[in-house]
Amino acid sequence: MPQRIVCQKCGNLLYEGQELKPPDEIIQKHDGKCPKCGKKLSYIPIDVEVKPATKS
Ligand SMILES: [Zn+2]
Repeated sequence: MPQRIVCQKCGNLLYEGQELKPPDEIIQKHDGKCPKCGKKLSYIPIDVEVKPATKS
């Protein structure tokens, strides 16, 4: 199955190929942003909420 990475905002194709590449490598190739719309690229969502453990 070919790997395909597109911009989440504008749908611009950033990488397509048979070879599986680490997403951060592709992001780095584009200087961390979409060449078309300029959106900052992040493959893994980093807006994970960290909550303090609650005592039960
Ligand atoms: Zn884009």
